[in-house]
Amino acid sequence: MSVPQRRRAVLTGMLALAGAALASGAAPLPEGPWPDATVIRGEHYVVMGHRVPAARLADLAARTERARRTVAAIWGPVRPVVLFPETDAEAGALAGAGATGGLAALATADRVIVLPDGYGRLTETGRDVVLAHEITHVATGATRGGRVPMWLSEGFADYVGYSAAGLGVRTVASELAAEVAAGVLPDRLPGPADFAPGAVRLAQAYEEAWLACRYVAGRFGERTLVRLYGGDVGTVLGLTPAEFTAGWRDYLRKELG
Ligand SMILES: [Zn+2]
Repeated sequence: MSVPQRRRAVLTGMLALAGAALASGAAPLPEGPWPDATVIRGEHYVVMGHRVPAARLADLAARTERARRTVAAIWGPVRPVVLFPETDAEAGALAGAGATGGLAALATADRVIVLPDGYGRLTETGRDVVLAHEITHVATGATRGGRVPMWLSEGFADYVGYSAAGLGVRTVASELAAEVAAGVLPDRLPGPADFAPGAVRLAQAYEEAWLACRYVAGRFGERTLVRLYGGDVGTVLGLTPAEFTAGWRDYLRKELG
């Protein structure tokens, strides 16, 4: 399945802002931000819409439940709260975020906020990936105040997000695959600056992080990847940072070369 460039751009932008919002510690939102909200309460999730057509909100609820199951299967139980505002401006205000142009969704510490414009432009698969990615951030506590490296928090959210998408490695990591095919391999795992909005290799940073997590799951098992969240490669994997980086680079060569 091909992924239009536009979807990738929207998805990547969304991921970047999600990280930014979490890093800045956006204040928890009130339980019900809108007096005239439409609420769909599932057994394990709550979806709230503000002047959103009923069919669109019902679609979001179904996707939220599906994404919740995806996250639960890998990480563990989570009870997501997802807000669907009327406008992007309203979403930005709820999140305490600045510019949200081109983004599709973001996560605060305890809920997911849909950005109607960007979300509406995503493919069906893109919407599921975005929701599972953001719900993963809520479930894991994302970077936990910087104690979890960004390659792991973003890579793990994408690992879960793409786990049920049925997309090939080269499709998801198309930008990085083009570099590797041209003989260029990254020499280190991506850091916070690489995930900054507007970073030149932002798409590749997410792809590098995703493949680092995929490498861990493939070599050590998915349960070990989950244990790595909050641990470190030395104690959990028995590798030095240099050995881990070398193993990841070999994996990139094998998967994308
Ligand atoms: Zn993210």
